[in-house]
Amino acid sequence: MYETIIIGGGPAAVAAGVYAARKKVKTALFANQIGGQSVVSDGIENWIGEPLISGPALAIKLKKHLEAQKENIDLFIGKNVDHVEKNDDGTFNVIVGDEVYSTKTVIVCSGGRHRRMEVPGEAEFEGKGVAFCATCDAPFFRGKDVAVVGGGNSGLEAVVDLLAYANKIYLVARKANKEELRGDPVTQEKVFASDKVEVIFGSDAVEVLGDKMVTGLRYKNILTEEVGEISVQGIFVEIGSVPNSEIIGNIVQKDAWNNIIVDTRTQATSCPGIFAAGDVTDTPYRQNNIAVGDAIKALLSAYDHVKKN
Ligand SMILES: Cc1cc2nc3c(=O)[nH]c(=O)nc-3n(C[C@H](O)[C@H](O)[C@H](O)COP(=O)(O)OP(=O)(O)OC[C@H]3O[C@@H](n4cnc5c(N)ncnc54)[C@H](O)[C@@H]3O)c2cc1C
Repeated sequence: MYETIIIGGGPAAVAAGVYAARKKVKTALFANQIGGQSVVSDGIENWIGEPLISGPALAIKLKKHLEAQKENIDLFIGKNVDHVEKNDDGTFNVIVGDEVYSTKTVIVCSGGRHRRMEVPGEAEFEGKGVAFCATCDAPFFRGKDVAVVGGGNSGLEAVVDLLAYANKIYLVARKANKEELRGDPVTQEKVFASDKVEVIFGSDAVEVLGDKMVTGLRYKNILTEEVGEISVQGIFVEIGSVPNSEIIGNIVQKDAWNNIIVDTRTQATSCPGIFAAGDVTDTPYRQNNIAVGDAIKALLSAYDHVKKN
């Protein structure tokens, strides 16, 4: 019986793991990989203590820090948690393939993943022109015409990433006009200063067109329902993220977007003994440093729970 099981491999899980080991809480950590979402980033400029670090370099540092504590924590890296079950006595089973691990508390740090458009052609052409990370894939579209779907900050940042490579960039945004766009003013300025960019306002992507590779994007005006087509060789999907909260099922309360609802003072969920931190929660701020701080709160709260129960 573990005292806590941490699920995840991003900054939140690593922070909880380091604190658990130092507190000598009997802990297991299950991560399918270490690093988290910003592992794909070229340059992170707000990881406190490092003026500039790449995503892969940060992942290496996180792994090194966790492994430095391996005498006091069972690390199961490369293992995927399938789901969590609640037992009648208030303990939990964590199911990993055929294996069952019992624990007094669980800290869910399973983060988030890209939201998909769920339109015809998206899955078929993933990796054949449909991409989810402009930072990673922009250089493959040198001299090509591309579309970015999503008018929020990540969409605008994708356009900025593509400016150095693409020939023409269409930004497909649901907002009706420039004034309604939500992205940072600084990013918007960069986008609108370029004559490579054409914004298709008030529209949703409805179909990815292609043969062996992407050849175009069909979109529909939300108000008029008028359908248009653009000829592009790349489509970057930047419409936000969804939490990896399926593993916890209905044991805890979630919001309308499936984020786990937490008490921000303790990171407790609606189920005693289950805590959550980072991008899987209803935090309004999805950032590495915030995930770390919240995960430390979660671990300290789990520690208190174990001592009291
Ligand atoms: C491209 C990009 C750039 C970013 N740049 C920055 C930046 O510059 N600065 C900043 O502060 N933030 C940045 N962010 C946001 C930041 O990455 C997130 O806020 C942060 O990673 C959240 O950490 P987390 O630990 O909660 O979750 P995640 O980073 O999502 O990590 C969760 C991890 O848990 C693992 N996992 C999930 N489910 C399971 C399971 N069932 N079993 C086992 N393991 C599982 C996965 O390996 C996953 O990677 C960026 C995000 C992206 C996508």
